[in-house]
Amino acid sequence: MDRETFETDVLLVGAGPASLACAYHLSRLFAEAGEKREITVIEKGAEVGQHILSGAVMDPRGLDELFQGRWREEGCPVEAPVESEAVYFLTRKGKVRFPFVPPTLQNHGCFVVTLSHVVRWLKEKVESQGVNVFEGFPGKEILWDAEGKRVEGVRTVDRGVSRDGQPKESFTPGTDLRAKVTVFGEGTRGSLTKSLVDRLSLHGPNPQIYGAGIKEIWEVPAGRIRPGEVYHTAGWPLPSIHYGGGWIYGLAENRVSIGFVNACDSGDPGFDPWRTAQEWKTHPWIHSILERGKVLKAGAKTLPEGGYWSQPRLFGEGFVLVGDSASFLNAPRLKGIHTAIKSGMLAAEAIFEASRANRYDAEALSAYDRRYRESWLCRELRLVRNVRQAFRSGFFLGALRAGAMLLLGGRVLKDRIAVPADAAQVRKLTDPLTPSLDGARSAPPFDGELTFDKLTGVYHAGAMHEENQPSHLLVADLDICSTRCLEEYGNPCEQFCPAKVYEMVDDPSRSSNLSGNRTRKLQIHHSNCVHCKTCDVMDPYGIITWTVPTDAGGPKYLGM
Ligand SMILES: Cc1cc2nc3c(=O)[nH]c(=O)nc-3n(C[C@H](O)[C@H](O)[C@H](O)COP(=O)(O)OP(=O)(O)OC[C@H]3O[C@@H](n4cnc5c(N)ncnc54)[C@H](O)[C@@H]3O)c2cc1C
Repeated sequence: MDRETFETDVLLVGAGPASLACAYHLSRLFAEAGEKREITVIEKGAEVGQHILSGAVMDPRGLDELFQGRWREEGCPVEAPVESEAVYFLTRKGKVRFPFVPPTLQNHGCFVVTLSHVVRWLKEKVESQGVNVFEGFPGKEILWDAEGKRVEGVRTVDRGVSRDGQPKESFTPGTDLRAKVTVFGEGTRGSLTKSLVDRLSLHGPNPQIYGAGIKEIWEVPAGRIRPGEVYHTAGWPLPSIHYGGGWIYGLAENRVSIGFVNACDSGDPGFDPWRTAQEWKTHPWIHSILERGKVLKAGAKTLPEGGYWSQPRLFGEGFVLVGDSASFLNAPRLKGIHTAIKSGMLAAEAIFEASRANRYDAEALSAYDRRYRESWLCRELRLVRNVRQAFRSGFFLGALRAGAMLLLGGRVLKDRIAVPADAAQVRKLTDPLTPSLDGARSAPPFDGELTFDKLTGVYHAGAMHEENQPSHLLVADLDICSTRCLEEYGNPCEQFCPAKVYEMVDDPSRSSNLSGNRTRKLQIHHSNCVHCKTCDVMDPYGIITWTVPTDAGGPKYLGM
């Protein structure tokens, strides 16, 4: 097969804030040194920003450093500066305002932004500095040197492949993008990053743990909420032992960003982040903000919440990891934009330094790790290194422990609170602590005005994939779904996927299985997938692998 090869000095995978900040900073460093280098960014979405979903209240520290304080003058789109803020503890009908805003949720001096718009602006900035940005180019596999030790770039997907794997008339083989150094900035649970970290055992001391975030943009009647009003909620509808909470951010033009993040370590096989977010909207206060409004967009995405202790090694032979892919999110602050930007800048400085000696091996690129450990970014993440983990003992005890940690420099007794991976936490149906699945399976109270079912959510996400292509959701052993998983966990994929991708359907071709007379098989509606990666995180057998689709399909989050 004739495969095109494209040579570049630096290849960045994913066009989120981390990669784009890295590309911008690096191109400027080379320009200042009077050198011309080829820098290339690839993005799986058909357009930069289409696969970006965030709250978002942005700490300006990252952009301030990247643009030397001039990002607003240079035209970065902003919804509003944060004008007022409060945190509420919700009960089913009521709300109690926290007497003070906890330090991690203080947003004075921050800005409410639409991140997909910010990254589109960043894309223009990097292109104006001569960086190539290839949109609709999903990175499918990592290219290794002959010894299989050094990363030499990335191969993009083969296009025009039919559902059964045969080349169609439109078949075009993927391109080999070869680079001296590859920057992985794929965001949460990056598919290439995951294979790289596993293959080279780059894991941090703790496994990564995740939250599943559901977001909606609403247009509401004038006067409901001012741009820059920022609220966070704890409590209902989550039980106090379960970590998570909601946000309400006032945007320009009578729009409001609302959302709910639900930790993936609840252990409940009925865990359904979509349903929880819908239920949260029925709280009288939230309902009063949205009433007579209309939903404009919806979507879902996981967040890597493990922080400092879940960080993989950041560098290796010919590569570095940046942003969410390298666990730079500050989960207690629900902030990863400024940290992604800073990680991209630090990586850029290390790559620039490595280029002086024309060496891109692990030793040369370890300068990135050194720079990180000397930076405010490391200080910020170390201070909260155990905060998210402390909440595993429940909201009230967790809040006390977190407060003590912040006063004592990030720890109480142990320097590291160890945690298991989310999937390892899912309880079997026979476990006496497992809540009944009846609630999760009963008809949900979606009214079509305030609350919506998952397929309506998929519609509001604009998610679409070509049907006639191989499913990008690989299930290693379908038999497990119909037998052990059905028996042991009740097929949690039907619940945890917010886009109704996974459905167990009756299978008359099978005569019997462990459950007796009814036989079921898994049907995968890959076209619904919103690229949140919850399935890759939550499947208790580790048999679901999320990979990039062969088209540039997926959600359409521009404006989210
Ligand atoms: C629900 C939610 C709410 C949040 N709220 C806030 C907030 O209020 N404030 C805040 O600061 N942060 C918030 N965050 C976190 C913040 O959005 C992230 O930390 C930040 O976007 C990480 O940037 P990144 O560049 O690492 O990854 P991303 O922004 O995820 O960008 C990664 C890009 O890589 C692309 N990509 C992935 N794989 C490939 C591949 N194989 N080939 C090509 N392209 C690929 C993706 O399509 C995407 O465009 C929130 C996150 C979520 C999910």
